[in-house]
Amino acid sequence: MTPSGPGFCVMAAEPLLEVDDLGVAFPDGSGGRRVVVDGVSLTVGAGERVGLVGESGSGKSLTALAILGLTPEPGEIGTGRVMVDGVESSEIAGCRGGVVGLVLQEAGSALNPVYSIGYQLVETIETHGIARGEAARLRALELLGEVALEDPEPIYGAYPHQLSGGQAQRVMLALALAGEPRVIVADEPTTALDLVTQAQILELLGRITDERNLGLLLVSHDLAVIAQLVHRVVVMHEGRIVEEGRTAEVLQNPEHPSTRALVAAAARMRGLHDSANGGVE
Ligand code: ADP
Ligand code: MG
Repeated sequence: MTPSGPGFCVMAAEPLLEVDDLGVAFPDGSGGRRVVVDGVSLTVGAGERVGLVGESGSGKSLTALAILGLTPEPGEIGTGRVMVDGVESSEIAGCRGGVVGLVLQEAGSALNPVYSIGYQLVETIETHGIARGEAARLRALELLGEVALEDPEPIYGAYPHQLSGGQAQRVMLALALAGEPRVIVADEPTTALDLVTQAQILELLGRITDERNLGLLLVSHDLAVIAQLVHRVVVMHEGRIVEEGRTAEVLQNPEHPSTRALVAAAARMRGLHDSANGGVE
């Protein structure tokens, strides 16, 4: 039997996150199955930030959820395995060093509305066997400071609905970091934020993953976000990976038609933005 539980997590060499031939299917309503994630394989190394992009409905979120072991009912994982540091992820759930989901689009609704921020942080810290009691409380306050919340005490006592969008995303990041993960998976973490807050959260994600040498899998439909933050992109289309490579190469020289469509749409958005600000043309 493989040891598991806090303190017994076996860690090996890179790549940190290794997803191999992942498949997710839903019942199609007439007795069959509709495959929505099909043979997805990818890796994320230590200190590496990888973007998962693709048009809406291409299977990005279900890939992220399946990696986290959170495939929504009645979906099921048909194939594949997820390894973190060479260990099957199902064996390291709840350990230090697991994969941790970060932020869903709406951090406010992803946080549990009935518990204070402090309670949720302490619970996560204790569940992962990092610290207990007063030490867990102090660690929670420290984490709030690490995600650049200037005044941790009131945030610690606050409830999710009392936070701004940017604060909620920072709290989600603190919660994700509370279990001391090696890899963070973030699904559209900045989509619901204004541009200034979005830039701050992206800067924070970059800094924290750099400082801790974490892997980051960033799901986004927004190529501007991807261009700013990730080293490598993986493009999904209809549940499959159709293209991948270094960010600049893929964005400057997209090969698959769906990647080209994403790049063209992003360029149109940029054009609109520039002309609205009196630039270009
Ligand atoms: P993306 O994040 O790229 O926009 P998703 O991973 O959310 O796409 O969804 C991929 C496909 O799976 C879509 O066609 C979507 O309709 C389908 N899907 C997602 N969630 C469910 C669900 N709970 N039940 C049935 N089908 C779903
Ligand atoms: Mg999605």
